[in-house]
Amino acid sequence: MSEQISVYDQIEIEDFTFDPDLQVFSYPCPCGDRFQISLGDMEDGENIAVCPSCSLMVEVIFEKEDLGEYIDEVA
Ligand SMILES: [Zn+2]
Repeated sequence: MSEQISVYDQIEIEDFTFDPDLQVFSYPCPCGDRFQISLGDMEDGENIAVCPSCSLMVEVIFEKEDLGEYIDEVA
């Protein structure tokens, strides 16, 4: 879909934990930290979640329509 990036895995958006306060999706990384991607970035079309502790990345599988329910949670 987008440019070729080497990702560790592909994860469905439903498998992420959404924090409505931080507006961030997160998913456990093998290093013990969590992959993170912000709702705003995903609205902009970003689909790569990055772990802040190691350099691993995962691709988030979602449709733009999927974001509606999370945006409602924030509003
Ligand atoms: Zn990590």
